[in-house]
Amino acid sequence: MAMKTVTKSTCCYCGVGCGVLIESDGDRITGIQGDPSHPANFGRLCTKGMTLPATAASLTGRALYPEMRLTRDAERQRIDWDAALDTVSERFADIIERHGPDAVAFYVSGQLLTEDYYVFNKLAKGVVGTNNIDTNSRLCMSSAVTAYKLALGADGPPTCYEDLELADCVLLAGSNMAYAHPVLFRRLEAAKATRPATKWVVIDPRRTDTAAMADLHLQIQPGTDVALFNGMLHHLIWEGLVDPAYIAAHTAGFAELKKLVRDYTPKMAAELCGILEADLIQAAEWFGASGGASLSLYCMGLNQSAHGTDKNLALINLHLATGQIGKPGAGPFSLTGQPNAMGGREVGGMATMLAAHRDIAIPSHRAEVAEVWGVPAGRLSNQPGLPAVAMFDAIRDGRIKAVWIACTNPAHSLPDAGKVAEALEMAEFVVVQEAFTNTDTVPYADVLLPAATWGEKAGTVTNSERRISRVRAAVAAPGEARPDWWIACEVAKRIAARLYPDEAAGFAYVETSAIFDEHRRLTVGRDLDIGGLDYALLESHGPQQWPLPAGMRQGLARRYVDGGFATPDGRARFHATPYKPVAEPTNARYPFHLLTGRLRDQWHGMSRTGRLPQLFAHTPEPSLTMHPHDAERRGLKAGDLVRVASKRGALVLPLAIGNDVPSGSVFAAMHWNGQFLNSLGINETSVPMVDARSFQPELKHAAVRIERA
Ligand code: SF4
Repeated sequence: MAMKTVTKSTCCYCGVGCGVLIESDGDRITGIQGDPSHPANFGRLCTKGMTLPATAASLTGRALYPEMRLTRDAERQRIDWDAALDTVSERFADIIERHGPDAVAFYVSGQLLTEDYYVFNKLAKGVVGTNNIDTNSRLCMSSAVTAYKLALGADGPPTCYEDLELADCVLLAGSNMAYAHPVLFRRLEAAKATRPATKWVVIDPRRTDTAAMADLHLQIQPGTDVALFNGMLHHLIWEGLVDPAYIAAHTAGFAELKKLVRDYTPKMAAELCGILEADLIQAAEWFGASGGASLSLYCMGLNQSAHGTDKNLALINLHLATGQIGKPGAGPFSLTGQPNAMGGREVGGMATMLAAHRDIAIPSHRAEVAEVWGVPAGRLSNQPGLPAVAMFDAIRDGRIKAVWIACTNPAHSLPDAGKVAEALEMAEFVVVQEAFTNTDTVPYADVLLPAATWGEKAGTVTNSERRISRVRAAVAAPGEARPDWWIACEVAKRIAARLYPDEAAGFAYVETSAIFDEHRRLTVGRDLDIGGLDYALLESHGPQQWPLPAGMRQGLARRYVDGGFATPDGRARFHATPYKPVAEPTNARYPFHLLTGRLRDQWHGMSRTGRLPQLFAHTPEPSLTMHPHDAERRGLKAGDLVRVASKRGALVLPLAIGNDVPSGSVFAAMHWNGQFLNSLGINETSVPMVDARSFQPELKHAAVRIERA
């Protein structure tokens, strides 16, 4: 009988970062338990986490062997790894030699492990010499990152999960936490049961399951969050509920902000938001006068907006003005969508940053990275690369000739998905590195590189509270699938040998601990210093939060507790943020607000969760939800097929009727795609406009019309 083995690892779905115990018989994953010792979940798992073994059970739909096609109209054929790696490196090197380094691009994923991310970033910036490496984290957290840097001086939330249990007022903004971060939500529910006086305010245009449990649901008009936060701040200032001593000692820019919010009377702000003035005032008073600690939990409703940075900044203004930051139970706390969006930022795996939160524009930062990588400082480009939406525009118009997509599905997840599909058709050369063959992007691959996935590969991830956890392999990858880091390193060695034959290869890692050690070396002296952390400490002391400099045995739970921020003068910055409407207002031709969001039991483009019948029990079919009054006025009933059309594209969905969306808005889940629809999904309609500072697109809102199909 095969021996049962238990392997400690981390769930691969969301940014809660739950610890798991994977049971295997040596060949197959046979079961899963929540890890009772993991500080993110203390043994709890949600439906998605509990069903991970079942998603790994079948090899149907797995990418098992490298494949290549010689012409666009041919089928891909199986090839061996050497041929695949040689082809990818030669085609990339050819294009770099003919057109320069910025003619190639890498589009990677917040689901890669930190070590995978690290080597992809080193390949792009240190070997190729381009900053054209961006990631689906651009669609997830970039507005939160930009606001943290502008307001507090550095990326990363100042808070920790324990704050959920210590808060007296919890403001949930643009987050259906009950679905998107279920284990944390259970923790919040348990805290409320223990301390029932805690107030929950939920800000969401939809009456989600999270909103249904709130003490106060502010059902604002889509995109009016900044008006709401400014109106709340107006009330706090004029009722004397701010903290003048904290403002004077630790912040800058309050006078300008006060001048701006003078105009945002609660009455005016409430009218803009479409809510009662009394409700806005109630929310402000609970937040500012809770007598204890106020915590904000926020997610894509703020981030996925053409004004996402402003929304984040306006919320942080509330915390700084009331001194609700840097103390137990208080602070702005962005909930990371993906399991390792944070780790990706730590290694600088995006078009607008360098490793360890360094800045592309600062010569000494480029030199520090180049020194550790053993490449000339001049190799690192001083020009930011193209962020996600602009990257695919550049592929479509021919500025970028080749793209390597790893562990993500841009044909489904980027806005204006039809244009993304056109870009992939126009590209000279498309590489897709994937564990699954059922994504909307795989058909565009000239070369398909089969990747190992959860349960089959090792490394680390960082969750929403800055906690770094080990990911471990329980079984071998099937077929010829290989870890993402190994694939990137093999191509990097080949490109480096061709472009720089006299340079020593910097990718001779034998295992992921060596990659982690190089990454941590780059963090020393930075705000995220993990000089004191290695795999041995993670093994002996369990998952750790950063920063954890040399000499410490435990990471810092909360940042800015002494009121000193990461800005040059140590003061946090207020930002005066006027309200701006949604990027695409409704009009007579497109009269409905289309809102998008998650389902409880599905994840992203369903490449993994879509493999399991039981995960369709909660929501069996795609649909478009409409308020009963709107449906009645149009003579529509549940089950009718309707055509949802924006200026960019259209798709047909069955109609659902529900009071959870307000009249004038409709809702569609983001997950359904070409596996289930005759289209790429709801992003065929979505808006490609991006936030001017974070470059995050407005995936949460578009103006649409609805017609009987
Ligand atoms: Fe996995 Fe997130 Fe569920 Fe935890 S809450 S089990 S990390 S999907």
